[in-house]
Order: sequence, then C-alpha cells, then structure tokens
Amino acid sequence: MRHALAMYRGGFVVDAQDCDYDSARLLGLTCPFCKEAVYVRAGTSYVRPAKQVSRGGNIVDQEAKLVESPQTFCHYEGKGQECEYRSTTTVGQQDIERLEIEARNQRLDLYNQHLWSMYAAIRPKADKFVSDGRKAFRDRYIEKKARSIQADLNEDLEPFMQSIEQLVKSDSSVKDSGLFSEAMLTDENLAREADQKRYFSAVDKGLHLLICKEIVAFLSTRTGRYALKKMVAYQLELYAATSACEIEAEMGGRPHPHNIEAIRYINRQASEEVKGMPDDLFKQCLLVAIVGTRWVEQIRDRLSPPDR
Ligand SMILES: [Zn+2]
Repeated sequence: MRHALAMYRGGFVVDAQDCDYDSARLLGLTCPFCKEAVYVRAGTSYVRPAKQVSRGGNIVDQEAKLVESPQTFCHYEGKGQECEYRSTTTVGQQDIERLEIEARNQRLDLYNQHLWSMYAAIRPKADKFVSDGRKAFRDRYIEKKARSIQADLNEDLEPFMQSIEQLVKSDSSVKDSGLFSEAMLTDENLAREADQKRYFSAVDKGLHLLICKEIVAFLSTRTGRYALKKMVAYQLELYAATSACEIEAEMGGRPHPHNIEAIRYINRQASEEVKGMPDDLFKQCLLVAIVGTRWVEQIRDRLSPPDR
C-alpha cells in the first residue's frame, strides 16, 4: 500500500515514496486500516527484453522496456492478513483526508490532556492560602484574559506563529530568555534547564515546530477555549510563584511554613503583581510554555504503534 501513519510523528500520513529502510524504526509506521505495524518494501525494477509477440494474428516486434514497481508499505509476516486485499486497493484522497483528521484529533486530545495536567501539577500548592474572594476574582481574571488572548489569536494568528518559529529556532532556554528572575535560579531549576537543553538539542525541530503551531491554532478555536483557560491559569500561578520567590528572597529567605502571616503576605503581593503583568509578556510566557514542552516525546510515548 502507498500510505501509512507515522505514529512517532503523531500519526501524520506518510507516502511510501518518501520513506526508506529505516523509516519503520524511526517513524513507527502503522497500517491506516488495521493499525498493525508495517515496513517499507523497496521498489523493484527490471528490463523486459525485446521480443517478438503475436498480435491479431501477426508477429510484431516489441521493444525492450523498463518495468518498475514502486516502493510500498507491507504488513509483517502473520499480521494484517485480512487487511491485505483492502490495503492493496488505491487509497483515495478522501481516505487520506479522513486519516489526517483522525490522527489530528488524537493529537489534539493529547495536547488538551497535557495542558490540563501542567496546570493541575502546580495548582494545589498555591491554592492553600488563597481566600474565596480572591479565588473568585482570579477566575474572572482568567476568563477575561483567555477571551482577550483568543480574540487576538482569531484576529491574526501570524504574529503568534512567527514568535513560535523564532523561539524554536533560537533554541533559547528559559534562563536565557530572561523570563526567570534570579531568585528562581535554584539548583533544581538549573538542573531541569540543563536536561531540557539536552532534550531540545536532539529533538526533530521541524516536527516540534509543526506541533507547537498546531497547538496555537487549536487554542484559537472554540474547543480550545478550555485548554487556553488552563494555560492562562497555569501562567498566572507560575508568575505568582516567581513573584513570591522574589519577595521571599527580599525577606531574607523562605519563611517558616508555620508563619502563615508571612505566606499570606507573599501571596497577596504576588497576586497584586500578577494583575500588573503586561499583556505582551503574558503572551510571550504562554508561547514559551508551549515551546518548552516535550511534545515529540509525549507523542512518542502515547501514540506508539503496537508491538510486532
Ligand atoms: Zn492493515
């Protein structure tokens, strides 16, 4: 068959002509029909020699001809037998479009889940000392911010896409980008940073960029609104945590966990700062959070082909 899904690349449809021997291992190729693993079988070509053939009762000369059969995807031995007939018929443009949509939905689902889990991972820590009134204020703030960002996205996606491209290209780390204050440069954060650098120096940048752009486009849609709200909330928590860190540092270190008043003060100051966070910085932080996520790894872990 001519088309397969590259599961390590998030289920994008690939053409056998664009693949080689290593593709099955590198791309995690699966059959679009039965979802079993497939591999690339090299195309063949041979020269049919010139000969004389009988045509309509006459003997005629037939010239030598190069006969080529293209490179195709094949199921492994013992897999997908029922599928062979179906997969040898030509896959039409409509089928390809359907497969693209199916794979895209799978990816969107994965992005959605991950954006929620990013927020969930930091939310409980910060929420402990926040009053109900402040929580209600925060929810309104999140709603407003998400609406305004979505309006910007809908008006013109291009500047966002360009920023994403620059961030991916420049390989800028969080530390270098100046989004982390001195107080946040703890050993733990620096170690995490070094680990991120290692990961991103080896990642397929083209695929990473494709995914980041797909996420930004997704956040601009109606179905992406909830994920965007979670991202806004995530960003607020992160910004507040950074501010809190700075205030702590100014106070001469981390206050004792029993010193509730000091912690309340820090939280109050931090949320005041959040209110004053400029829109452009907010958007930039949002994009940095998207670009700094290991999407290719996520996809590889979650959308892998079955064992063969
Ligand atoms: Zn199959």
